[in-house]
Amino acid sequence: MRTSHICPKCAHREILFVPHIADRDDRDTVRPLVLFVKHHDWKDDEIGVVQAYVCRSCSYTELYTAGVGTIPVDKIPGAKILTPKK
Ligand SMILES: [Zn+2]
Repeated sequence: MRTSHICPKCAHREILFVPHIADRDDRDTVRPLVLFVKHHDWKDDEIGVVQAYVCRSCSYTELYTAGVGTIPVDKIPGAKILTPKK
């Protein structure tokens, strides 16, 4: 859907792209939804902005993470690269 702009569920040809999905923090402010947040007193490190592609007919939604190739895997506790087993 991201590259074809055609819904894989219903074949509709109109897709809504949303570059930032709203999330909230405990101060009731809106921040983009991300894969991981490291809180510091002066700022938050936010890693991996999640983006959405939504079918305008059936509402099917796909989520992707922007810039996945540049995400510092070692800074996300528990995260690891998975590859096919032989
Ligand atoms: Zn659809």
